[in-house]
Amino acid sequence: MLANMALLDVEKVIRDFEAMTKDAENVQRETLKLILEENGCAEYLQNLGLNGRTDPESFKACVPLVTHKDLEPYIQRVVDGAFPLILTGKPITTISLSSGTTQGKPKFVPFNDELMETTLQIYRTSFAFRNRGLACWNCNHQCVRNSQFKNAMKAMQSQVCSPDEVIFSPDFHQSLYCHLLCGLLLREEIQLVSSTFAHSIVLAFQTFEQVWEELCGDIREGVLSSRITFPSVRSAMAKLLKPNPELADLIEKKCSGLVNWYGLIPDLFPNVKYIYGIMTGSMEHYLKKLRHYAGDVPLISADYGASEGWVGANINPTLPPESATYAVLPNIGYFEFLLEQENVEEHIQDKVNGSFNAVEPKPVGLTEVNVGEEYEVIVTSFAGLYRYRLGDVVKVMGFHNSTPELKFVCRRNLMLNINIDKNTEKDLQLSVEEAAKLIAEEKLEVVDFSSHVDVMADPVITSRKVNTIGPLELRVLRKGTFQKILEHYLGLGGALSQFKTPRCVGPTNNKVLQILCDNVAKNYFSTVF
Ligand code: AMP
Repeated sequence: MLANMALLDVEKVIRDFEAMTKDAENVQRETLKLILEENGCAEYLQNLGLNGRTDPESFKACVPLVTHKDLEPYIQRVVDGAFPLILTGKPITTISLSSGTTQGKPKFVPFNDELMETTLQIYRTSFAFRNRGLACWNCNHQCVRNSQFKNAMKAMQSQVCSPDEVIFSPDFHQSLYCHLLCGLLLREEIQLVSSTFAHSIVLAFQTFEQVWEELCGDIREGVLSSRITFPSVRSAMAKLLKPNPELADLIEKKCSGLVNWYGLIPDLFPNVKYIYGIMTGSMEHYLKKLRHYAGDVPLISADYGASEGWVGANINPTLPPESATYAVLPNIGYFEFLLEQENVEEHIQDKVNGSFNAVEPKPVGLTEVNVGEEYEVIVTSFAGLYRYRLGDVVKVMGFHNSTPELKFVCRRNLMLNINIDKNTEKDLQLSVEEAAKLIAEEKLEVVDFSSHVDVMADPVITSRKVNTIGPLELRVLRKGTFQKILEHYLGLGGALSQFKTPRCVGPTNNKVLQILCDNVAKNYFSTVF
């Protein structure tokens, strides 16, 4: 099959990217025009009085900034199926579920063929800049089911090693076990270990530590463990499994020879070239553990986007993930940027049909951002989102031609916020890293972490300096607590590959807060403040 496929012309992909980013302003104008021409007949846009105009100035004057909450009634009508042309010119046939990290429940987000195409364009672009690699796990469900996606991945020599029955198994424990088994069976051929987010790669190898003997048993006997119960998965795996005592012996020997599992990945997969997944933002915490498993195999952060649409590609793959930036592709959506300093909640009117407010902040265009500044990303997509506040804060690190290179900073709403005392995910991560250094002396590690503002204790809270904010409380959680949180999110319909531990649990996220509170093993109060 592969021999008959045209391989991706990486030089052409890079040439197109260079041409497009040199002309980013015009490409943005054209992209907006295309989006509005395709979707001008949608009810949402009709009501805003654009009257066929497609220029950025009219667009900004007529269309308000919105959040997901503002669009929920519209999306719900699309989901209900009665009015398919509410947000787009062509009917929306698929709805994605976001991971739900911020609000505690997944959001419905429209998905269509155009979004699929932008996904492929992002993948092709960053692949062209990496320009090597082959296959392992990747289960972004919406895409993996798509035949166009499968062909594109083949063209990038990036086929997955597990059969579809394993990828789409309804039970993530069973699916993960089989992914590991498939990887071991194809160990010589694996050139890339990948998942959407770094968390699931770490989880996979933590699971391997628990089940490796059972996996070796399956390989030795050629019989799948009875822990796999789905008949379709069992029959798909039966086609791959043959008794192979030599392979089982080899893996057992390799595992027994490792010190604390250091360098597990290259030992299992001798031809692996790099490890690939989103490693920035809330994923940075897992880098230490991932580096431990990876030994000397490089880690490359994947691209930046959301269920709502892609934003930028990592075109500097040799940079360590901590320094990764994302170059915005100017033709995959129309982008605006709201300066963080001006982004004060009270002044923003989010109502779709509300009257215009003179204090509505004015976002700038893609090519107008300033290096060193932080902005919230505003997206207008091909799938029915117009001036949609993504909720992510990014910092402009520089430009590639005339398109900005962004560093992911944090999610705006995942902030520990007590009046003037504000701590972002990044602040938290830095303090956890410091704490981790102390406990490392005792050979302990921080598996995961989250935080919460407790406003129940004292109603008058203003500032730490004048002692009206209580001392920081540190709660040590029982082993397996974060696994319970993961399972809670999966139970709501989220995909394992999308999961992100919420770094700050908001007041509405009751269930996660409950899991955390129910699993406190010990608590300490800071004596510093
Ligand atoms: P989802 O909720 O599954 O749609 O996840 C999308 C969110 O994941 C984005 O809005 C970001 O907050 C986060 N995200 C996606 N890509 C990256 C990245 N490369 N670096 C950091 N965070 C990311």
